[in-house]
Amino acid sequence: MRDMLRSIPAMDKSMQALLDAAPELANAPRKLLKESVSAFWNKIREEIRQGKCEQVIDLNTQLPALLRHARKTLQLNLRPALNGAGVVIHTNLGRSILSRQACEAALMAASNYCTLEMDVNTGARGGRHNLTSRLIQMLTGAEDALVVNNNAAAVLLILDTLCKGGETIVSRGELVEIGGSFRIPDIMRKSGAILKEVGTTNRTHLADYENAITENTRAIMRVHASNFRIIGFHAEAHLKDLKNLAHAHNLPLIVDLGSGNLLAFDGNGLPHEPTVQEVIAQGADIVCFSGDKALGGPQAGIIAGKKSIVEKLKKNPLTRALRCDKMCLAALEATLRLYLDPETAIREIPTPAMLAMPPDEIARNARALAKKLRQALANAQIPCQITLLQNASRAGGGSFPEYELATTLVCVQPQHMSSQQLRMKLLQADIPLIGRMEQDAFCLDPRTLQKKDYRLVIETLVNALVST
Ligand SMILES: *Cc1c(COP(=O)(O)O)cnc(C)c1O
Repeated sequence: MRDMLRSIPAMDKSMQALLDAAPELANAPRKLLKESVSAFWNKIREEIRQGKCEQVIDLNTQLPALLRHARKTLQLNLRPALNGAGVVIHTNLGRSILSRQACEAALMAASNYCTLEMDVNTGARGGRHNLTSRLIQMLTGAEDALVVNNNAAAVLLILDTLCKGGETIVSRGELVEIGGSFRIPDIMRKSGAILKEVGTTNRTHLADYENAITENTRAIMRVHASNFRIIGFHAEAHLKDLKNLAHAHNLPLIVDLGSGNLLAFDGNGLPHEPTVQEVIAQGADIVCFSGDKALGGPQAGIIAGKKSIVEKLKKNPLTRALRCDKMCLAALEATLRLYLDPETAIREIPTPAMLAMPPDEIARNARALAKKLRQALANAQIPCQITLLQNASRAGGGSFPEYELATTLVCVQPQHMSSQQLRMKLLQADIPLIGRMEQDAFCLDPRTLQKKDYRLVIETLVNALVST
């Protein structure tokens, strides 16, 4: 054992061998490379101690494995992934892909000084909040607007500003958990607002709200339960009635829309979800929604509503703590500008485009992808079955819960490994390819794959299928 341990090469030797074999590693951070080499030999050292090694260590024999290990360690943690899962707003994969226009704007802001808080008319300090407020007003019909880091922050800011120390009335059917430990009751507690629950899980009536109003009431709040659906014996108060009730008592009506839509998606297999402009028109005083859900922009919490309330929000010191950075605001402005013409928005912004993609277009793409894949597999002599399957994609991100968007999947069933093994290998690829399992096959949904990536998808699949 001692001979074996002693045969582990020194750092200098390992580094030299690595750089000889792969000169491009000279550009990698030395610290990371050395750490990776240490970790590699430490693992082998451990194996020797456990009696799992038979022979003394030979650097040349180990070099390919060392090189693979080094390359893996040097990869950035945040890198691209291919979404073949058919979940459009896939939170684990970064929710929305930005439009080309938004990407260019973010890059501009990242690589230049920019007019973030500079009033170019006076040279004095301007406000970053004014960069997008005019566009949000035009698109939603609201008097004023404010953007913060995400919608959870928007909810916190609104409650902290308007409801602290007093009661906020919310229906029991709307006390939702969004995931990632965001629960409406928790966020209320954090903001110092007292939750006043009314009604029942499945039915809440206007009278329930009315009976709960006291002199301690600060607001009525509606949370758009966008990540689940109550079916069957269900009732909720109309927004207009809530508005009338709130205003009769001089209370603001707050609406957390979750995934705020600026476009009506009905007619594409999706139900009518209230758009932001509808909710504003129905009299909500303050509305908040996410920038990176159905809107398809950067992570942001967009707040739109009455000028008097937005002014109060801006004065809250929390606003400073929750503010967006320049790249986000640049991408958001570019995204919102595309919405000025709905047809342009649906063409140019990937998330709404994917949500509205017609089933026959997906079927065409599925056939094209399957054909290319069969060819590549035949060329590489890999025995594998490729079939098409009528199935459904999901909107995801807590939008359009349970609604199924008709799609055609490309199913991959290798003969020499299980579909589950294939799935794990694809996760480990340099650019991970995420799919989903249906009927024991590994399946890809063309709705969420970008056409420009088909070649990469095929290459990744072939690589995973040839390696053992
Ligand atoms: C998603 C969601 C949130 C949180 O939005 P983030 O932008 O993820 O912070 C809050 N409320 C509702 C109803 C949601 O659906």
